[in-house]
Amino acid sequence: MTDEADTAYRILKPTPPVAESVLDCIGATPLVRLSRLERELGVACQLYGKCEFLNAGGSVKDRIAVRMLLEAERSGRIKPGDTLIEPTSGNTGIGIALVAAVRGYRCIITMPEKMSEEKVNILKLLGAEIVRTPTEAAFDSPDSHISVARRLCAEIPHSFILDQYANPENIWAHYHGTAGEILDQVPAGRVDVFVAGAGTGGTITGCARRFKAHSPTTKIVGVDPEGSILAQPDSLNDQGVHPYAVEGIGYDFIPAVLDRSLVDLWVKTSDRESFLAARQLIATEGLLVGGSSGAALVGTLRALDQLDLRQRSDIVVVMILPDSCRNYMSKFIADSWMIQHGFLDDISPREPWEAFP
Ligand code: PMP
Repeated sequence: MTDEADTAYRILKPTPPVAESVLDCIGATPLVRLSRLERELGVACQLYGKCEFLNAGGSVKDRIAVRMLLEAERSGRIKPGDTLIEPTSGNTGIGIALVAAVRGYRCIITMPEKMSEEKVNILKLLGAEIVRTPTEAAFDSPDSHISVARRLCAEIPHSFILDQYANPENIWAHYHGTAGEILDQVPAGRVDVFVAGAGTGGTITGCARRFKAHSPTTKIVGVDPEGSILAQPDSLNDQGVHPYAVEGIGYDFIPAVLDRSLVDLWVKTSDRESFLAARQLIATEGLLVGGSSGAALVGTLRALDQLDLRQRSDIVVVMILPDSCRNYMSKFIADSWMIQHGFLDDISPREPWEAFP
């Protein structure tokens, strides 16, 4: 029996005790070696994916939802029965709605139209009320998901915005949680290159702070979709703000929790390559991820080439795989959607994003 086949029969981690609630099923996600992709993509480095899509609510944002909510409760700013309002691209909404359901809060989510029906349906079932806002509304226009949330908060008594864009717990959740776990998981406790897409920037800021404190030589790579303006230098964003299809990363403003001084290298990614890379991650490694995970893979390869590290077998690279393909079953997971949007030429589900002979 090969080592890999044997894995199925091994206990990978101590069996956890009975959970008091689903909140205990957030965090402690697996770190998976992507050795099949290493071979397929001709990468000598050790590639690892942090499987945030295996959190209870299906994304990296569960971590901040539980931390922001419990901290607001602990400090007496909210109590069960209050209304939580949050502007989000969906995953923070799912995390907050899940925690709100368990702890007894009313939950209102404001979310741009672009975000998938799958996210809306999950939110509804979790008991959240949903307000859709125009995707093209600039962040400071009165119609944006951020402005609408503020307006509702002013109108509804005992309502509160946890505010993932400015809440320091968004950073701490990743400093203590995501990055702390990664340092425990990687061989020799060392990360040489860390790659994450930025939405609010909580993941990359919290992790970068932790990794740089641990080892200042860790290279931090930020991934920003074409159509967003988070990347630096500004010349990388010369396409300007325009709509794009990958969900959860990129913005038309710089969120307060995003500390761009920690990022050593920014990489821009297109919709097409991100979706093809996500499909390659699913087909090659069996990891059921969403589109921003594909962007992270594209960003990883591009950064390794720019840093001239692709053939270095001693280099440990960790990328964040933020959410699950469950959110996109009617979108990039479907061949018909890929073809309709010009991202796939023909029905060839295994068309690789980048392959080496
Ligand atoms: N990918 C997806 C699918 C997301 O929903 C988010 C959160 N918006 C991110 C990546 C980026 O995470 P962060 O907000 O921590 O930058």
